[in-house]
Parts: sequence; structure tokens; C-alpha cells
Amino acid sequence: MRKHAKIVATLGPASDDLATVRALVAAGANVFRLNFSHGSHEDHRRRHALVREVERETGRPLGVLMDLQGPKLRIGTFAAGPVTLQEGQAFRLDLQVREPGDAQRVALPHPEIFAALQPGAELLLDDGRLRLRVQACGPEHADTQVVAGGPLSDRKGVNVPGVVLPLSPLTEKDRRDLAFGLTLGVDWVALSFVQRAADITELRALVGEQAGIVAKLEKPAAIEALADIVAETDAVMVARGDLGVEMPAEQVPVLQKRIVEACRHAGKPVIVATQMLESMVNAPVPTRAEASDVATAVYEGADAVMLSAESATGRHPVAAVQMMGRIIRHTEADAHYLAAIGASRSTPPGSAPDAIGFAMRHVTELLQAVATVAYTSSGYSALRMARERPQAPIIGMTPRLAVARRLALVWGVQAVLCHDVADVTEITDLAEATVRQAGLGQTGQHIVISAGMPFGVSGTTNLLRIAQLR
Ligand code: PGA
Ligand code: MN
Repeated sequence: MRKHAKIVATLGPASDDLATVRALVAAGANVFRLNFSHGSHEDHRRRHALVREVERETGRPLGVLMDLQGPKLRIGTFAAGPVTLQEGQAFRLDLQVREPGDAQRVALPHPEIFAALQPGAELLLDDGRLRLRVQACGPEHADTQVVAGGPLSDRKGVNVPGVVLPLSPLTEKDRRDLAFGLTLGVDWVALSFVQRAADITELRALVGEQAGIVAKLEKPAAIEALADIVAETDAVMVARGDLGVEMPAEQVPVLQKRIVEACRHAGKPVIVATQMLESMVNAPVPTRAEASDVATAVYEGADAVMLSAESATGRHPVAAVQMMGRIIRHTEADAHYLAAIGASRSTPPGSAPDAIGFAMRHVTELLQAVATVAYTSSGYSALRMARERPQAPIIGMTPRLAVARRLALVWGVQAVLCHDVADVTEITDLAEATVRQAGLGQTGQHIVISAGMPFGVSGTTNLLRIAQLR
């Protein structure tokens, strides 16, 4: 049985050879993530080539997503190893980057933070394990009081949740990595620590049409600007790791639901990410809570669920993808699944392509159509169909390999490469042949086709055709 929800698997040292990537694809991985927070360009080049090799072998379009590290903030180093901060004590952060730290102060080499801080703001260190409250601050320092103490060592990460930082979303490293990734030919670029819609615009100026953009939502500021960010981006990742550091853990499930809903309303792909099967980094089976977490994302109608360390550095990368695939299939086989998806469906905006998608689902249900086919040069028609989460399979028929690869991320869409078509008869014949080849239907059964006229011009979805298999 085909699954609707897709799997994004991060590649790393644990999945760095052809046999493993082959096994990951066989287990159901649709998109591979190259995490530029780790590894060299050579590592990423090799992994990208492995994916393309397996794609050639299987003839199944696979997506590659490059994940930019973004402005990860860090403290400086300490003179004599780790220190321990006590609750209630004073601790100073400053721009004296040459002075190693001690139990009273440490460098924080980011003037933008000091520019944006106000007394009362909270700083989180080491994934939120330590918390500092700002008492007084200036352009080059902040005097804080320790709210939650503990050990602190060199270059630990810093989060500043309540403050919009005047930072470009792209560091020098990100720009170099991006240029490299685009020459490889990645399909998606993920942007970390997005704060505002303008961050996406800034990245798009560099990416152009070469790849789709995934906004990683991991800051409170991004949640406040959710509608604008969703409108500007091509896809979204619920990055629950950093999100759960910057906001209390109990808010993460609620935010996940809100973000998935917003993306489904806009018809943009949404990935639920981080710690989904975390215990499988070491263990051959997940906890029941983790299995339930994956199922929850599937019931919510997320386009994709993601594995990070599980497939990149864990001991059981293939078993993790297999397990994720089994949970997805089992959830989607539940009689309540389509009802759950349906309950969270919203009426689309009043545009022609959305109207086609809307009509397509109703026609599909009424005629018990065996497949829906979107002939799509930009992928847009397929996205309009996927937005409706129809019960029949969606075939995204496209003459463009880059589009087929991008569609690997999208709920329910099976991308098939085809040649350029000239008229409706040709599209119908091609759709029929594709559905037959996929073994989806028999003579007399209906298929529903959408396309845009004039053909080959993107964003023109305006045609709904019902055909009977001959
Ligand atoms: P990261 O993003 O793995 O690049 O930090 C995901 C997350 O924060 O959840
Ligand atoms: Mn993150």
C-alpha cells in the first residue's frame, strides 16, 4: 500500500554508503536532508550523488533538501574548563572576545544581541538548560542574574526567545553553503531561525527558481508572524528541537497543530521534525510515545515527517525509516484517518486553481474515481490537488525533473515524468496510460485530470477533465 505522508531522512555518517541509501529508499524515504550544521562540502557532495544514483536505479524521483545552519548564537570559551553557575548569582556577558571566561563572566561575540536586549529579557544557554535574566545592559554587555544554574562549557548555544534580533537569517557560512548546494542541484533549501517573512524574501533573492524554500519555524517571533511567513515561503518545517527550547514544552503540540493547519489552508507542504523516533538513535524499536507522535502528525495531515539523528548518526537508520513507514501506513489504514483529515480541511481561497482542486475532490468522491492526475509544469496544480487531501491517489505528471523531485515532499503525490504535451487529447491519453501502468484502475473506471491552458505556462490551472479508462 502506498503511503500519503512522506518521509524526510537526514543523511550522515550512519547512512553514507550506496547500500544504506538504497535500503532507506526501499523502506519509504522520499526526501533526503543534508544538514549543513555538520559535515564538509565533500561529505554533502558524496551523499547527494548517492541519492541521485539510487534515483536512477529505481526511476523514482527523490527530493534533496539542504538545511542551512543559520545564525546559531554561541558564547565564547572559558579559561579553566567548564564552570558551574549557581541560581541567584550575577553573571556578565560582554563583547571582550579575547578574554576567556570564568564563573563571573563570559564573552558573547554577537553585538546584535546586546543591541536588542532590554532589562527583564531572558537568555537561554545550552539548549535551555541554563536561564539568565537581564538586569542591566548596554551596547557591549549585559549584567544578568542566574534563574536556572548548572554547568556551562565552551561555545554553548544561546537562545534569546522573547526578542526579535536584528540579524540577517544568512551568515557568511550559510551563503557559501547555499552557493555550493545550488551547484549540486538541491531541490529544497531550509532556512533556520526564521523570524519574519522578509527573511524568506532575502533567501529567495539568492535562490530564485533553482529550489523551493522551507521556512524552519523555531522561534516565538516566527509564530507571531505565522500568516505572513506561510504566505511568503514554499514550505514549512515545524522544527520542534529549537522551538521547544525557545518556548515551554507544553506549547509545542499546540503550535504544531496551528502550524500544520495554517500550511494546509495555504496548500503548502509542512514537515513535522525532530525527536520523532529519538530513542531509535540507540534502540532497535521506538517508545510507544514516539510511535504515537508520528501517528499524531499523520492524523493532523502533515505532508511529511522527518528523521534527524535517527538516520544520520544513529545505530539503526534503516530500521527507523521502516518503522516510520509502518506507523504511517497503519495510521492511514485506520477508518477514522480520512475523517480526521477531512475534519481539519478548510474551504480554499477563491482562485481558479483552488476551485479546480476543490471540484476535483468532489468529483472524485462522487464517481469513485481511481486516480487524480495533475498535469503540471510548475507543480502548482499538484499542490492544489494535494491541498484537498482526496481519497484517490494523486499523480503529478510533469515534463520537468526538478518539479518531480520537489513534489516528493508533498502529501499523496506520486510524481511521474512525461514529455511536453500539446492538447487535451494527449494529456488524457498520457494520464490513462500512467494510471494503467501504476496498476490503479480497470476499464470503465473514472480518473479525474487537471491542467492549465495554455499548456506549459505555470500557474494557469483552469481545466478539469473526467475520463473513463478504456
Ligand atoms: P536543527 O533544526 O536540527 O537544524 O536544529 C531542527 C530543530 O530545531 O528542530
Ligand atoms: Mn533548529
